[in-house]
Amino acid sequence: MSKPIVAVIGRPNVGKSTLFNRLTKSKTSIVDDTPGVTRDRIYGEVEWLTHKFTLIDTGGIEPESTDIILSQMRRQAEAAIEAADVIVFLVDVKTGLTDSDMQVANMLRKSHKPVVLVVNKVDDMIKQVMGVYEFYNLGLGDPVPISAGQPLNLGDMLDEIVAHFKVDQEEVEEDDRIKVAIIGKPNVGKSSLVNKIVGEERVIVSDIAGTTRDSVDTDVEINGQRYTLIDTAGLRRKSKIKESIEKYSIIRTVAAIERADIILIMIDAKEGITEQDTKIAGMAHEAGKGCIIVVNKWDDIEKNDKTMNVYLKDITNTLAYMQYAPCQFISAKTGQRLSKLFETIYAIAQNQTMRISTGVLNDVLYEAMAMNQPPSDKGKPLKIFYMTQVSVKPPTFVIFVNDKELMHFSYQRYIENQMREAFGFKGTPLRFIIREKG
Ligand code: GDP
Ligand code: GDP
Repeated sequence: MSKPIVAVIGRPNVGKSTLFNRLTKSKTSIVDDTPGVTRDRIYGEVEWLTHKFTLIDTGGIEPESTDIILSQMRRQAEAAIEAADVIVFLVDVKTGLTDSDMQVANMLRKSHKPVVLVVNKVDDMIKQVMGVYEFYNLGLGDPVPISAGQPLNLGDMLDEIVAHFKVDQEEVEEDDRIKVAIIGKPNVGKSSLVNKIVGEERVIVSDIAGTTRDSVDTDVEINGQRYTLIDTAGLRRKSKIKESIEKYSIIRTVAAIERADIILIMIDAKEGITEQDTKIAGMAHEAGKGCIIVVNKWDDIEKNDKTMNVYLKDITNTLAYMQYAPCQFISAKTGQRLSKLFETIYAIAQNQTMRISTGVLNDVLYEAMAMNQPPSDKGKPLKIFYMTQVSVKPPTFVIFVNDKELMHFSYQRYIENQMREAFGFKGTPLRFIIREKG
């Protein structure tokens, strides 16, 4: 199932982050406690009535000078137009209508994307009503007044947003294709890999225009299995301007992750793993998708018999929370180990949809507890009654215990490790929901 993506754009200081925090606040991610996962949240999940969507805040970059606000907003808008399903254009009633608002509105109008024009900082709906009317001049329809600060009228705004979702998009779209996204910073070789695969393998349907987004996915068939290579918007088209400001390319990355089953996190062998790589990897991990760490340009470095281990060690240390993700060393240029890569993708697709019966699961659980007793706190022992699998992609388990507080991260990790040993699950994160049972 792919959740709709909503991007909030607007000038600095209009209240984008305030709104984002307001809407995503109560949602704490299951993996929030995972050490090493980056806290730099600019996207999160929002639930409204029966709808769920991914919200992206493109703010957070403070331009050093007002001259570049406009050019930054243009790029922000471009990225949102390309990757989002609905765009929230946030303006500020206190500063009123500005030139840059006008220019961005022109871009948005031409894009034919659904846009919800939201006027923020309307802390007093009656006194500030004239200020809201001014924004009709943008030609984007009825402005929705809100106060992200108070908060006021957010429900009306959310109604407007979800009204634009395509009905079929929120439904489960099941077919046998394994959806693969390649993510990574600019120039690691993402488009080279797609081109190599497409050049070498039988392309059954290529360049089917995306239905809801301006993206172009490619279907390939390898050893009788169909794969959809998700275009990280313009991968093969070759973007005119290489992304220099990472926040904007994040919109595309989030969109690709959201739609994929398996993520290839691509790292440049010539640079080793960088800070930006770890941020990108953290996003894939949090989304609960199958992951492979792909070290590209392996043809282009000097190696001896130890080189691969040095890389492995470095990656394992840096991405400590992703021990489940296998590492593969490839060359998009020469095609080295591409068939191995697809074998791994296939195996992970099996692992992430694996279901373990409650009986077998609890055999492993009880044996694990016998080998290593659950912890106690102030004389009170943790009791684990049983566990059961509730879903797949990623495999998710509910563990019933006497007291949630007593379930420490380290013991949960121990159980996870025992399960991985018993069942495999290579390449997919596992999720645990701890429930109390009287
Ligand atoms: P961003 O740069 O667009 O992300 O804007 P921020 O969310 O950082 O907000 C900029 C400033 O506007 C902060 O000082 C907020 O406290 C303030 N602000 C945000 N929403 C409201 C609102 O609804 N009413 C008022 N009065 N101030 C707000
Ligand atoms: P993207 O921005 O991630 O899509 O990266 P590109 O596919 O455009 O590749 C960036 C540059 O790296 C290009 O000059 C490619 O020719 C080069 N490149 C990509 N993959 C490889 C590889 O496996 N080996 C070598 N030596 N160069 C590569």
